[in-house]
Amino acid sequence: MSYDPTNIFAKILRGEIPNGTVYEDEHVLAFRDINPQTPTHVLIIPKGAYESFADFSREASDAEIVAFVRAAGKIAKDLGIEDDGYRVIANNGRDANQEVPHFHLHMFGGQNLGRIIKPV
Ligand code: AMP
Repeated sequence: MSYDPTNIFAKILRGEIPNGTVYEDEHVLAFRDINPQTPTHVLIIPKGAYESFADFSREASDAEIVAFVRAAGKIAKDLGIEDDGYRVIANNGRDANQEVPHFHLHMFGGQNLGRIIKPV
């Protein structure tokens, strides 16, 4: 599958639709999820055209990966959720129900998040 430049996050990166930016640098954009699941729910995306975590982990440069991870840690601190705790997840592909085909981390915080996976 090749990157679809019409996906909603590509449109956000091109400035075609508005977003609630909380952080931006050369390689990274982070903005508030439009349908927050927790008091703090932000999405952290690379500016490069990577469709999934798998794609990003394979194809991104070391500089992009370092920038992304450093930014995520800084965002949590700046949003004031580091001390109480937070969760980062990436939905990758069909079984994870990834909806937007541009790699993104969800960052959740602001409440106790419970266990990540319900027992089957
Ligand atoms: P995923 O299922 O991991 O692909 O998550 C996609 C996320 O993008 C969902 O949590 C949506 O609420 C969020 N989302 C979709 N469109 C927008 C938008 N325009 N601005 C902010 N978040 C969005």
